[in-house]
Amino acid sequence: MTQKSYFTAIFPGSFDPITMGHLDIIRRASDLFPKLIVAVADPLHKKTMFDLDERIRLVRESVVGIPNVEVQGFTGLLVDFAQKVGARAIIRGLRAVSDFEYEFKMAWMNRRMYPQIETIFLIPSEEYAYLASSLVKEIAFLGKDVDGLVPPPVAEKIRETILGKYKDTRGPSLEVDG
Ligand code: ADP
Repeated sequence: MTQKSYFTAIFPGSFDPITMGHLDIIRRASDLFPKLIVAVADPLHKKTMFDLDERIRLVRESVVGIPNVEVQGFTGLLVDFAQKVGARAIIRGLRAVSDFEYEFKMAWMNRRMYPQIETIFLIPSEEYAYLASSLVKEIAFLGKDVDGLVPPPVAEKIRETILGKYKDTRGPSLEVDG
């Protein structure tokens, strides 16, 4: 493994959509690693409000100006993607205790499949500790403003989407997905 790849970290997630909480973790990780790949997942069993291309585009627009950050989409197993890009670390964000059990299981399973990878948990600034994509979607669908909870391009896209696609339905999938 080269020196450079040793320091590559990936921050995987659904980012449906990216919130200020995600962005907080991205900023912290970009300070720690020479290269951070934000890996936007195409989840097999999760219905998303935004398709993969839209989620990637929104993450790209939101990370403009943050150094060392690259955005890529991926399908399949995270550890395969991590191996492909030569990452040594998986970054995950930890909010309240409720995240812990799921995150611990995933970290353990990823280590089992790819022992060279370490999972590193970062905590966001207090003001984002309870922020979740699912909450943002719920608030937006109920007609409330999401400015300040998500980066500006996302707030704009949400307004557009809610006014268009979901206006005659019960709304996007609001399953609890972070
Ligand atoms: P996934 O489907 O992989 O859980 P998410 O986009 O929901 O994807 O979350 C990606 C990562 O970002 C997870 O580690 C999650 O805990 C973290 N995360 C989400 N929201 C926040 C937040 N407000 N503060 C810190 N970390 C967060």
